[in-house]
Amino acid sequence: MPVQSFHAALTLTSGWPYPSGHAARRSLIIKIHRSWGTLFRRSPKEPGWSELVETIAMSEWTLYRILLAAYFVLAAAAFAAIRFIPVPYGRHNRRGWGRQVKAYLGWLLMESPSFFVFAFFFLLEAGSVGKVEVIFLILWEVHYVQRSFVYPFLIRNRQTRMPLVIVLLAMTFTTWNSYLNSRYLFHFSGGYSSEWLTDLRFLLGVMLFVSGLAINWHSDRILRRLRQPGERTYQIPRGGFFRYVSCANYFGETIEWAGWALATWSLPGLGFAIWTVANLGPRARSHHLWYRRHFPDYPKNRKAFIPFLI
Ligand code: NDP
Repeated sequence: MPVQSFHAALTLTSGWPYPSGHAARRSLIIKIHRSWGTLFRRSPKEPGWSELVETIAMSEWTLYRILLAAYFVLAAAAFAAIRFIPVPYGRHNRRGWGRQVKAYLGWLLMESPSFFVFAFFFLLEAGSVGKVEVIFLILWEVHYVQRSFVYPFLIRNRQTRMPLVIVLLAMTFTTWNSYLNSRYLFHFSGGYSSEWLTDLRFLLGVMLFVSGLAINWHSDRILRRLRQPGERTYQIPRGGFFRYVSCANYFGETIEWAGWALATWSLPGLGFAIWTVANLGPRARSHHLWYRRHFPDYPKNRKAFIPFLI
């Protein structure tokens, strides 16, 4: 049950008692056997294998909790850092960040770990996951197929570059983030029951995710159409959610991951939503100030990030 798992995940500082209850714990141990067995092509009946699996599983759970706790702490640190030092790519790119790589290649490298890591941990548990988890897989992969393998090739200026160090940092984040989310959903959650399909949190969360995705794609399309192939100039974006905010694509992305947090009702899901705000909120502010500095006729009532608010 997701609620139970959410509660269990909240006991970040406690020991192994996860999930609570003998039957639930037993079923998790069986899942762990299957999962590690698939990975190493070993049968749980082989001598010593059971003990080894339990040790590895306990170490993984400990590691998982450390990574999850660090994820929340670093989100706050990232927010503070990005507020004062805009991440140097796009219009905020500047000298002093070392070697630069083509932006489209950077996007492909930065985002594709999200696709592969999530798929890997799904395949590891493919024999035992239910319908709800398959829906989460579809939502995640639709987003990341577009972001990793379509979006980079739609960028109008193929000569635009970004610092390699940003690509490497982002790759670390996407690997970490997709491990936390996929491992929880397909493994540590203990499985979502089919009743979750009619739970208001799931329904509202999926609706938000799909709406956010549509706003994000539509807004990125509006931005793309402001340039001819090869062009590097900036114009005032208009239409869609740009009527209300300078960074409608970031607004859509934030709605998406807020929906994800609600639908999965999980700590890693919540962490991803917080990270998205920590990353895109301060960047939206920097974009907004940049527009105001560069366009004297910039719409006065347009907000930076969240319509009518910020
Ligand atoms: P931007 O809005 O800064 O840029 C998107 C594209 O549009 C770039 O190619 C940019 O060119 C171009 N562009 C932007 N504004 C204008 C304008 N006024 N006139 C002409 N062209 C313009 O978004 P990002 O590059 O930061 O992000 C791209 C996508 O990735 C977004 O959908 C975003 O939501 C998502 N993202 C998600 C993150 C997360 O934490 N989940 C983190 C970062 C991004 P140029 O590069 O030359 O400025």
